[in-house]
This record gives sequence, C-alpha cells and structure tokens, in this order.
Amino acid sequence: AKEERKGTFRFYDDQLFDRLTSRLKKEDELAKAISDDQFVIYYQPRVHACSGELAGLEALVRWNHPERGIVPPDEFIPLAESTGAIISIGATVIEKVCAQLAQWQASGVAVVPVSVNISARQFNTGGIDRLIASLLEQHRLRPELLEVELTESTMMNESSDIASQVATINAMGIRMHVDDFGTGYSSLARLQEFNLHVLKIDRAFTSRLGQSKSGEVLFKSIVSMGKALSMRITAEGVETAEQLRVLQALGCDEIQGYFISRPLPAAEILPLIQKRFLF
Ligand code: C2E
Ligand code: CA
Ligand code: CA
Ligand code: CA
Repeated sequence: AKEERKGTFRFYDDQLFDRLTSRLKKEDELAKAISDDQFVIYYQPRVHACSGELAGLEALVRWNHPERGIVPPDEFIPLAESTGAIISIGATVIEKVCAQLAQWQASGVAVVPVSVNISARQFNTGGIDRLIASLLEQHRLRPELLEVELTESTMMNESSDIASQVATINAMGIRMHVDDFGTGYSSLARLQEFNLHVLKIDRAFTSRLGQSKSGEVLFKSIVSMGKALSMRITAEGVETAEQLRVLQALGCDEIQGYFISRPLPAAEILPLIQKRFLF
C-alpha cells in the first residue's frame, strides 16, 4: 500500500510520522533500560601477535532488551549519543567493568587490563576523568587495569576540555588507545601531543590484508609510523590465519578479532583468561 502512495505528500508525511514515533519509542525504551539496568558487558580478548598470549580485553556494551534480547551497540549508541543518554550508559559501562575486575581479582583470577570505549560526547560533558578516578578508588584497582579507547575523530575534536581530560587520565597511569585508526584525519602532531599508547588499526584495513599488495603497504606504513612515535600497534577485526600471518610479518604487536574470539559475556570469557595462550 505504501508503494501506491509513493511520490505523494502523504507518503512522506506517514514516513516521517513513523520515524518520529519509533524514535520517541526508542528514546523511552532507552531511558527505561537505564533505570532498569538492562546493559551487559561483553569482553573480547586482545592477544600478542607472536605468542598468542592474552594481552587485555575490550569491554563492549550490549543492551539486554526484555523482548528483543541482546541488542548490539550500533543499534542504540548513536541515539544515546544524540539524546545524551550515552553519559549514563557510559558511566554504567565503566562501573560494571570496575566491579567485574574487582570480583575477578578477589577470586584470585590473574586479571588483564580491560579497555572501555569513550565517545567525544562523554569527554565533552566532562567529568569522565573524575568518574574513572573515583571508581578505581572505590574498587581498589590499580590504574593499569583500566584502559581507555578514544576514536581518531574524538582526538581531533577541537575542544580543549577533551585535551585536558585526556591529559588527566594519562597522568593517572591509564593507557590510551586510538580506536578506528586510519578512518579519520589525525595529525602526527596531535598523536604526539596527546601522548597516547596504542594505535588500533581499523578493521577495514585488516580485511584488505592478503587480498591486495596495496593493503599491506598501507598497513606497513601505519606500523612504522606508530613505532616512530613509540606506540604499540593493534590490528582489529582479524578473522583468518592468513591475516594473522601477514600481521606477524608486518611487525604488528597485538591482534583482536573473531579468529581469536568473539566478544563474550563475563562467565564465558573467564576460561579464556585462565587459558592465557589463545593460539
Ligand atoms: P569498536 O570500538 O570499533 O569495536 C569493535 C567492533 O568490532 C565490535 O562491535 C566487535 O564485536 C567487532 N569485531 C571484533 N572483532 C571482529 C571481527 O573479527 N570481525 C568483525 N566483522 N567484527 C569484529 P560491537 O561490539 O558491535 O561494537 C560496535 C561499536 O559500538 C564499537 O566499535 C564502539 O564504537 C561502540 N561501542 C561498544 N561499546 C561501547 C561503549 O561502552 N561505549 C561507547 N561509547 N561505544 C561503544
Ligand atoms: Ca574500540
Ligand atoms: Ca575499533
Ligand atoms: Ca569501529
């Protein structure tokens, strides 16, 4: 029926109405998700490229929706960013990660650092540095156990508030990763100024490895740039043994991806933490 009305004013009107109501409904649901604590953390391992030894975990949030089940972040983070809900979701994520680390530590698990993703909006609203400091203190965690991932575009954000929070977090002894590297336009000057520790090369580059020589050349130049800045290099989205082999040859430090493990809930990641060597 919609097809017949194509091109008429009513069609657009209906569509706009549908979009608005579904957005409002989703906003309501998201607000309820926050008050009902419907978020869960999945963890994905990051391993040393040569030995396969576990180097850390990345915390990836999921919305455990009462009807839809596990909802991936791409389906709610953009909305949460635009409404500001990301502030409380982000706080929940760090809180849950710290509580989990404390629990693992208390039960004698040899824990590894866990990185959390922090968006520009979270930095801009401020206070993320204070939040981190108070959670580490509350859970009695060494700062090296928590790491922060910020995207290349966040890093290039002109806000001086971001720069000062990054500096404070850095000074606390928390390692910082430049996420989705290669997708934005960061400058060498900025990388140096921010004194970040890890370049995390975007999945788009990894997926080109083994397909074309140009993909390798590009990767290689990012690796040597990172080394020149004394940064470690992580490749994300590693899905095949062939990609791993190429990355080892290129001198990449750490890898992450489905080839090692998909992101898993805490109970399922624990055996991998204990296993230690993942290939
Ligand atoms: P990201 O930070 O780039 O996270 C990596 C994404 O790639 C994750 O998707 C992960 O599941 C996926 N991935 C990992 N290995 C592979 C692989 O081998 N192949 C493929 N095809 N995909 C792989 P996920 O968990 O759906 O997260 C998507 C994005 O949502 C993240 O991208 C991040 O930008 C955002 N996000 C997740 N959790 C949080 C959070 O707590 N706060 C904020 N602000 N953003 C978050
Ligand atoms: Ca990330
Ligand atoms: Ca990424
Ligand atoms: Ca990404």
